[in-house]
Amino acid sequence: MDNPIVTPLLIAQEISPDGSTQKHLLQMSDGAQIESVLLRYRERFTVCASTQVGCACGCGFCATGRMGFVRQLSAGEIVSQVRHFQGYLGDQAGRLSNVVFMGMGEPLLNTEQTLKAVERLVDPHGLALAPGRITLSTAGIVPGILCLADVHPRWPIKLAISLHAATDDLRNSLMPVNRAYPLPQLFDAVRQYTDRTRRRVFYEWVMIKGINDTQEQAHALTGWLQDLPSHVNLIQLNPTSDSQYRPAAPQAMADFASVLDAHGIPHTVRQRRGSGIRAGCGQLFTQSHHVCN
Ligand code: SF4
Repeated sequence: MDNPIVTPLLIAQEISPDGSTQKHLLQMSDGAQIESVLLRYRERFTVCASTQVGCACGCGFCATGRMGFVRQLSAGEIVSQVRHFQGYLGDQAGRLSNVVFMGMGEPLLNTEQTLKAVERLVDPHGLALAPGRITLSTAGIVPGILCLADVHPRWPIKLAISLHAATDDLRNSLMPVNRAYPLPQLFDAVRQYTDRTRRRVFYEWVMIKGINDTQEQAHALTGWLQDLPSHVNLIQLNPTSDSQYRPAAPQAMADFASVLDAHGIPHTVRQRRGSGIRAGCGQLFTQSHHVCN
């Protein structure tokens, strides 16, 4: 079979103290290692899947970004992460209802294989997930966003953008990909996407102390989102010991959220999930390698 669904090997796992988040380090047949996360919310499970081994985008706050790019994952390898957790959940597998491409890698730099994986995940003879229960998260790859608008009639999955900064200067420093696709270009693509799909876009904003948790950034963000259907997720940074960045204070997060409130922009202030298990992007991988080395 072309692009078979392989069975990955479980190398390491960590479970948060409350049991709601677990992160698995999985080994592919060539020895490449990736990480996948299982999140439980009430009675439902979500798999956070990787789409690449490592990542070329180099975001400064991200452990995977510091690893660099190793290789693409095939559609079979992407789907195998979901299959892995189905097997792991056993008779609870029916509660696995959502998949997010928010693990290692930039899915829109591996668009073809990621969309093939979507095709398998929604296949009525396979996992039969509703497309609306699949979310793709991108750092802002403009051609990929336009491609998702093209394929939306066939695969109406959700789009999330890891934004993290609302001015080009700051975003260039946090996310080098912004130099290729600066904010005016990114939001031009978002506008085309929302015009064509009539769907709102989700924005991830990892709150970093003294960097992007400021009132200035909050106001700049409202400028971009004012007339776009949007939902902003404010997430306190999950700190890693080798990062210069620290988590925003709860008060700074509340003040930031107040600005969004005042402009009528829907948002959620998200608890740091997986804290205590190094569940930020790439952290289990790097931890495991630190141990091995
Ligand atoms: S945050 Fe996402 S896009 Fe940025 S380096 Fe990490 S994995 Fe890549």
